[in-house]
Amino acid sequence: MTAKRRRTANPGQIVIQRIALLLTLLIGALSATTPASAIDGIVEDIRIGQHPDKIRFVMDLSQPVDFTVFSLADPYRVVIDLPELSFAPGARLDAKHPKAIKGFRFGLFRPGTSRVVIDTASPYSVASAFRLPAKAGYGPRIVLDLKPTSRAAFIEESQRSVAAFQAKRQPRLTAPKPAAPPLLTRPPRKAHEKILVAIDAGHGGVDPGAIGVSGIYEKNIVLNAARILKAELESTGRYEVLLTRDRDVFLRLRERIAIARRAGADLFLSLHADSIPNRKLRGASIYTLSETASDKEANLLAENENKSDIIAGMDFGTETPEVTSILIDLAQRETMNHSARFAGMLVREMRGEVKLLKTAHRFAGFAVLKAPDIPSVLIELGFLSNNHDEKLLRSPAHLRKVSVSLRRAIDGYFDLVQSAARAN
Ligand SMILES: [Zn+2]
Repeated sequence: MTAKRRRTANPGQIVIQRIALLLTLLIGALSATTPASAIDGIVEDIRIGQHPDKIRFVMDLSQPVDFTVFSLADPYRVVIDLPELSFAPGARLDAKHPKAIKGFRFGLFRPGTSRVVIDTASPYSVASAFRLPAKAGYGPRIVLDLKPTSRAAFIEESQRSVAAFQAKRQPRLTAPKPAAPPLLTRPPRKAHEKILVAIDAGHGGVDPGAIGVSGIYEKNIVLNAARILKAELESTGRYEVLLTRDRDVFLRLRERIAIARRAGADLFLSLHADSIPNRKLRGASIYTLSETASDKEANLLAENENKSDIIAGMDFGTETPEVTSILIDLAQRETMNHSARFAGMLVREMRGEVKLLKTAHRFAGFAVLKAPDIPSVLIELGFLSNNHDEKLLRSPAHLRKVSVSLRRAIDGYFDLVQSAARAN
């Protein structure tokens, strides 16, 4: 960063900046009540500069936009919410970024809101956050100055900023919207209705999931796989398919379950393609819920998957922790038996068609599998940390082949379920 771009603010300027920020937040809160739909601009570039006393984070924009900032601890994150923006390919962390910046993610957080998450190695306070108008060859900018701080001060700032953020979001949360049925009532399906299969493409938006050896994101691979599987299932005429997400948007783990339950899904499939430190390991695997993980890899994968909300800057709890508090009770044990039976059928159908891990059916505490009444499995389609698997997962022909074996297993499973129902 050149000296020309630096602003040395005096205390008076800082007060003005703070007032400007407050106004920005206020305007943001008012405009948040009207749903945004179209893209509101482009993030052309991001620049992160190390200065003697601070790190300056700059976003170059195609047009001025409002924003909100808050910070979260464990791990240390600074979160910026913006209107729905698209990010130019250059808007990424470059190789020379300051060491204190551990990561930078962005994406659609919910329709109308894009989110940026900056991970820092140690606590950094948001010393100032302001907008700059287009000037001297630069477009409109959002600037954040981050200064090293103590953990105690960071936590205090985090609590304050989250409270302000939540107060601002309140109008949106209470906007008239049909109340979702409580999570524990699932509408029964009628006999003439098609079987409803919920397909959950993992990750999305600000949570990219694993990053493949060629740089591809898990969130894009699994969305592609979900669409291909939907087409395969619907082509039979026997199934209706619900995608928990059909675009590149973040969804909380519990929301994925809630979408399936509100619709009364008969089966829940969560699609993933993760990455592990052992780059040689390849092959697909099927996971069902268990309190105890079947092995180290299963446990590691579940831990990674369950971090999705943290990755998206979403771990402050205001909503009731329905899903996390669901204990594995008797009703769920029945569902777990169904899930395990289906997983077994899936392994049989996939074997010979698709490379599988040696122990292909594994168990672990995946949060997304905790619907108490919908048989649920998580399918790791392969490892993006492995060259060969990654290449396959980028191929639509391979995904179609996987979809055919999944469809056969689903057919077999519902044949069984329906003949058991007729026998009763
Ligand atoms: Zn995943």
